[in-house]
Amino acid sequence: KIKVRFAPSPTGNLHVGGARTALFNWLYARKVGGKFVLRIEDTDTARSTRESEEKMKADLAWLGLNWDEGPDVGGPNGPYRQSERAEIYKSYVDKLVAAGHAYPCFCTDAELEAMKAEAEAKKLPPIYRGKWSSASKEEVEAEMAKGTPYCYRFRVPANKEIGINDIVRGQVTWNTDNLGDFVVLRSNGLPVYNFCVAIDDALMGISHVLRAEEHLPNTLRQLLVYEALGFTPPVFGHLLVYEALGFTPPVFGHMSLILAPDKSKLSKRHGATSVGDFKQQGYLAPAMVNYLSLLGWNDGTEKEIYTVDELTQAFDLQRITKSAAVFDKVKLSWMNGQHLRALPEEELLSRIADALVAGGVLADASSAFAAAMASLVKGSVDMLGDAAAQVPALLGYPLAETVQSEEFKPIQEDNFLEVAAAVLAAHDSGDLAAAVAGGHDTFKKWINGVGKAQKRKGKRLFMPMRVALTGRMQGPDVGELLGALAQESGSDVVERSSL
Ligand code: GLU
Repeated sequence: KIKVRFAPSPTGNLHVGGARTALFNWLYARKVGGKFVLRIEDTDTARSTRESEEKMKADLAWLGLNWDEGPDVGGPNGPYRQSERAEIYKSYVDKLVAAGHAYPCFCTDAELEAMKAEAEAKKLPPIYRGKWSSASKEEVEAEMAKGTPYCYRFRVPANKEIGINDIVRGQVTWNTDNLGDFVVLRSNGLPVYNFCVAIDDALMGISHVLRAEEHLPNTLRQLLVYEALGFTPPVFGHLLVYEALGFTPPVFGHMSLILAPDKSKLSKRHGATSVGDFKQQGYLAPAMVNYLSLLGWNDGTEKEIYTVDELTQAFDLQRITKSAAVFDKVKLSWMNGQHLRALPEEELLSRIADALVAGGVLADASSAFAAAMASLVKGSVDMLGDAAAQVPALLGYPLAETVQSEEFKPIQEDNFLEVAAAVLAAHDSGDLAAAVAGGHDTFKKWINGVGKAQKRKGKRLFMPMRVALTGRMQGPDVGELLGALAQESGSDVVERSSL
């Protein structure tokens, strides 16, 4: 049974790296009909907040990454917040102690510092090789009777090669001699992160751990805890008793970093990095999901635009790439444009019209003019927020002056200005509007009439028209443009003078 998890620490926003981890886990679960668990890793009580948790859940929901087990929805292996699992962790510390895999340590901070200094002087790694690992029962009891504070440490086996066959990174091995006996339960009663993760993954029946590369070094401690509890056989060739307990060992996959275009680690100084920021900037959730899916995965073809359904079909763990992914906002925006234009026409136009009103350009999103303007810009808008910036360029007011501007001098041969003036006059008098209202044939007749009168056709006719109306030499089809502009009524544009 496939079960994966996303296990964020609620100490800030959901960043693109975390969202990518969540997405790959979710896609895998959806692809194979497995379960996706959300676990809140809030053992760092000083930095974790409920506010951050709520925000992360809202961002995941916005992306459409729903969880089958987790906070709010519950499930068979809850609670799903580590802060609510203290008794579970304590009971497993007791099991480790009973089996000799952990022991109480009464060392004071000063003693630990001294040990560290001594190791450094001997050029040994600064790891715990403390006296309490071999203390007798009597010594321990005497110390406890005195009320000396103590933590529990894991007894790391000496000189053991332990490894994983990582889905992304291949075989990775560690030697336990580089690791000291690490703390599993602090003297204040709080369990240590790597201990909680191993216990939770085991008890929750997690089959695959897909997470960021930065967690690779944590895997060694987690494997040792698994092994000690008999949950899994992570040691090559050493099968333990996990089968009797009915646990299946997780498969690990550590995904590569996400870099900024300058190849440094993606961080705040590169601008927006949290899902919430992108949402606020107007990116569509399906575009965000599509973009994140390609940060370290591809289906082996050139295909780049995917719907969420297509992704759940195509996703394949074996195709997660080992090289670092580069987060490119230009590409993300382009992709957003692709998803935007894939929306049903009516929804696309109404979203753009809303953006034009929100952007302070148009007064009423439901007017015919708003729809006409939306239709004009839909082909060139990648972000809804850009639409408002494009419309003033289509409304090249004040029109009469625009035509006279220096920029157009080179193309003003022959009767260029007369054509422009004719269009402006028709715009002002309402003749243009009437021609448009009359339908396609009437409108065509009107254009032909202007052409005949001015002895121009084709591009030579349309360029002065375009310049007259928009003050630009490029833009949408002139017929469409004239049709749209003709629909403008007095109150459509918010404040023409500012355009
Ligand atoms: N809580 C960890 C984090 O937010 C995730 C650890 C894991 O996936 O094992 O980075």
